[in-house]
Amino acid sequence: MAQVTCSFCGRNKKDVDLMISGIHAHICDKCITQANQILSEETKTKNNISSPKFNLIKPVEMKNHLDKYVIGQDEAKKVISVAVYNHYKRLMQKDEDDDVTIEKSNIIMVGETGTGKTYLARTLAKILQVPFCIADATVLTEAGYVGEDVESILTRLLQAANYETEAAERGIVYIDELDKISRKSDNPSITRDVSGEGVQQALLKLLEGTSVNVPPQGGRKHPDQKMISVNTENILFICGGAFDGITRNIGNRLNSRAIGFTAKTDDKGLDEENMLQYINAQDLKSFGLIPELIGRLPVLTHLNPLDKSTLKQILTEPKNALVKQYTKLFAMEDIEIEFKKTALDYIVDKAVEFKLGARGLRSICEAIVTDAMFELPSDTTTKKLVITKAYAEEKLEKSKVNKLKAA
Ligand code: ADP
Repeated sequence: MAQVTCSFCGRNKKDVDLMISGIHAHICDKCITQANQILSEETKTKNNISSPKFNLIKPVEMKNHLDKYVIGQDEAKKVISVAVYNHYKRLMQKDEDDDVTIEKSNIIMVGETGTGKTYLARTLAKILQVPFCIADATVLTEAGYVGEDVESILTRLLQAANYETEAAERGIVYIDELDKISRKSDNPSITRDVSGEGVQQALLKLLEGTSVNVPPQGGRKHPDQKMISVNTENILFICGGAFDGITRNIGNRLNSRAIGFTAKTDDKGLDEENMLQYINAQDLKSFGLIPELIGRLPVLTHLNPLDKSTLKQILTEPKNALVKQYTKLFAMEDIEIEFKKTALDYIVDKAVEFKLGARGLRSICEAIVTDAMFELPSDTTTKKLVITKAYAEEKLEKSKVNKLKAA
């Protein structure tokens, strides 16, 4: 019998894992893989050419979309939708209408931990058709010190853009934990503040718009490394942070003004539970952000603390609410799971107690259902699991999650 060889690469059948035969030809697995790669590359370039460079979503649509995932936080959602929309419009402005230039509206979000800052940014990433990345300000240090240079943020954006510089240059970057790089004012000035003010200074240029040499694989810059030049002029930066204790700064400012010149009795009408809603740039400055940085983050918004009813909604309503996720997980085992209202209330109460915002919900739920998730797949008799308050209480009491309380 004639030897079967691949009609593309000529390899012998015995040298390959798989050989597929057609009427007059054969193809081996290696050539199939290669052909597939060529095909996907080709369709990718075609799509890039034919589709617009970004998807223009109107602010109302964008907010509606965010509403499906993120509960509450209407103000922040509105502000962000508008800023992102303007970002698109800015990208569309032609050079010839240059008498009015639209400036970049970088955003800063302030809100307690677990109130949805990162989640908002992530959800935004899903709807946007521009490259998007999340960076953590805590790992950044001034160039030359142990830690990451601020340019590493752009490495991530480049990766998200598949190393297409042009796409990365109109992307969006979310910088988390910006409060952690606030100026350490009580530092003696002989020690340089390399992770605080130094990083803020380094961020200035990036936020405003400059050409930066970015190491494509991240890590420290070194002389032999090939760099990619990225212009940050059209990159939108969204920063977030908990700014623990900033409510004191806000309170001080509001009170001193009240005593100082207005002294209106109706100033008593302040909502002490949610002082963050009164935040302004001055408070960020007294917290330790340098004025130049604040100036480059002109859109300031806040996220509200999550109250019990919001937490309960988060547990049950969003598209990927925890309860819906567990229902699906158990349904895959043909088991119906039901959370009693009293159990949900109990979970919410515990989350409030642990002060972890919505983040606490997940760990509490996990602690409650882990035993069932461990045992039930091997137990063919149980078809329904009802989570009552007593059940939730029992499971949580014996789990380590209860130790979160100390945190
Ligand atoms: P942070 O404000 O600290 O960045 P995250 O955005 O990481 O908090 O929130 C932690 C988790 O809590 C998210 O992954 C999300 O599942 C949930 N979550 C927080 N806030 C909300 C919200 N407003 N609506 C829906 N889920 C939320």
